Amino acid sequence: MDPGRKTDAQNSTMTDAMPASKTRFEFEDADETIEEAATGSSNLEEDSAMCEPEDSSIVGADKTSADYYFDSYSHFGIHEEMLKDVVRTKTYQNVIYKNKFLFKDKIVLDVGAGTGILSLFCAKAGAKHVYAVECSQMADMAQEIVKANGFSSVITVLKGKIEEINLPVPQVDIIISEWMGYFLLYENMLNTVLYARDKWLVSNGIVLPDNASLYLTAIEDAEYKEDKIEFWNNVYGFDMSCIRKQSMMEPLVDTVDQNQIVTNSQLLKTMNISKMTSGDASFTAPFKLIAQRDDYIHALVAYFDVSFSVCHKMTGFSTGPKSRNTHWKQTVLYLEDVLTICQGEFVAGSMTVTQNKKNPRDVDITLKYTLNGRRTTISRTQQYKMR
Ligand code: SAH
Repeated sequence: MDPGRKTDAQNSTMTDAMPASKTRFEFEDADETIEEAATGSSNLEEDSAMCEPEDSSIVGADKTSADYYFDSYSHFGIHEEMLKDVVRTKTYQNVIYKNKFLFKDKIVLDVGAGTGILSLFCAKAGAKHVYAVECSQMADMAQEIVKANGFSSVITVLKGKIEEINLPVPQVDIIISEWMGYFLLYENMLNTVLYARDKWLVSNGIVLPDNASLYLTAIEDAEYKEDKIEFWNNVYGFDMSCIRKQSMMEPLVDTVDQNQIVTNSQLLKTMNISKMTSGDASFTAPFKLIAQRDDYIHALVAYFDVSFSVCHKMTGFSTGPKSRNTHWKQTVLYLEDVLTICQGEFVAGSMTVTQNKKNPRDVDITLKYTLNGRRTTISRTQQYKMR
């Protein structure tokens, strides 16, 4: 994927840069035992087609790269990236191991089990039975992993889509899932979790995690915008600006240095996974981003956090630029014009997020914004598409 971004020494800010130190999400310490691995970039992109291809007889070593294209979660690489994301995986482990009382003698449904890691945590924490549902070929590996670790009597791996499988029990006490995509909602696996919740969760059952929030902030990003967007204006002397238009529309998933942040962060939307409907994942949210210094704004940046509020101690993690990096990085939405903003001035507007009608795994984003400043007066609407 993209190389790391610039350091603050390269920033062209109008004020002195703050010292670069990554702060941690205040909820829970996520790296007690595992060393700081896998915080760097990976070139593995999550693919939007999550489940197995039509020809499910294609297995393991016989697969071609085309098969993997249609079935990215069947390859171990994407699971390696997720497992090595210690912020992610350790948070789930802490939630489960430090709240055994939630799991003792309970029936758990793991929605999209992958390698089965969350099911194994739950089984170890004393769950009565865990149903691990996974639609990709990785289900076969999960089955072997469960057996190799002596949990065959506690964990049942079911290979298939949540929407299509027959669960051997009428109800479950807990639904656990790691469903979050880039920009929280890309891939739209949230609908699968809500489907499982409505079909099988007992009335006082719990969903883990049970809260997810999306945030927006604004950054200075001159150098990277030049490299990713303006690049197309002159490619070896040729005008390729038709591609610039496309690149502007595609949000960029990349890490942002916290020193690039120019404004406050605005909470756009909180979703209560225990109560929401799938329609709640489409919304329009207002924002007001107030400049904390004189600077240029090249892009707005979205990120999310999730939390597990039913725990003894509030637990969760953030994917924001001030927190330790995760494989979700941040989502950068470049603005058509460079905004020059003075401290105290603000960019106000709204963000509309909807599922794409043709491909519900894609996310359409409409950004409306206005700045009435001393140096810049602007009012614009821009469209983006995560795909
Ligand atoms: N729980 C694992 C994997 C998370 S990735 C972990 O935490 O490491 C999400 C997984 O959900 C992928 O393996 C994907 O194949 C699976 N998945 C996505 N949609 C699904 C569906 N509708 N039914 C079953 N599995 C699904």
